[in-house]
Amino acid sequence: MIIVKTKEEIELMRESALVVSKTLGLIAKEVKPGVTTLQLDKMAEEFIREQGAIPGFLGLYDFPNTLCMSPNSQVVHGIPNKEPLIEGDIISIDCGAIKNGFYGDHAYTFAIGKIAPETEKLLQVTKESLYVGIREFKLNNRVGDVGYAIQQYCESYGYGVVRELVGHGLGRKMHEDPEMPNYGKRGRGKKFIEGMVVAIEPMINMGTHRIKQHKDGWTITTQDNKPSAHFEHDVALVNGKPELLSTFAYVYDALGIESDEEAEFRQHELIL
Ligand code: MG
Ligand code: MG
Repeated sequence: MIIVKTKEEIELMRESALVVSKTLGLIAKEVKPGVTTLQLDKMAEEFIREQGAIPGFLGLYDFPNTLCMSPNSQVVHGIPNKEPLIEGDIISIDCGAIKNGFYGDHAYTFAIGKIAPETEKLLQVTKESLYVGIREFKLNNRVGDVGYAIQQYCESYGYGVVRELVGHGLGRKMHEDPEMPNYGKRGRGKKFIEGMVVAIEPMINMGTHRIKQHKDGWTITTQDNKPSAHFEHDVALVNGKPELLSTFAYVYDALGIESDEEAEFRQHELIL
């Protein structure tokens, strides 16, 4: 059952989304060669608590940390550890937080120093596919329209779209209805309705879409060990259109990137 949110609840969810957006912005400044994912995890936990929020992943389904840290061929759900990041790596960082009882859920794949051009392309296309998907999240469209758009876009570059892991409705629970696959058929699945909030999150592999699960019970990697990328936004359906609640503005500020990619998904100005 889809739980629609009132205007007031959507404003609260915007606050939750800003907590995770700011957290990824903080991490963006620190994610470089030599730093360990465990160090970044501690920074994120402190920062989330300072903002009057609670880490959303810590303890959720017994996950042991604040951030999911998935380098290179890891798709999602990697556990922070004491291994330093090295030049040429990529790392997908997924952050959850609860504020005022609502979850924010947000992910970005970072390059560590200079990366291979083909990996750079994977990151670029995966992020573009996120917006391709968000554009389809509008009144009277259906779940399959978002998935179809993301899948077509990524497969046109020869990439693999992960099947086993999907986006989701978001609210007082991290995972609400509906599931939001990154693949699908036009016109299929649940219809979108005013006031719903979802996390759209393409998980895209450079090679095969197939994945494998590690013995730790968490980490998911690509079956062919080629790199994987993951970008995630929280989006509300407001006035029939997608309205971004999360923002990469803090990440871009930290990395010195100019971008207006989010502008078309804002019905009022972003106040940072
Ligand atoms: Mg997430
Ligand atoms: Mg999510």
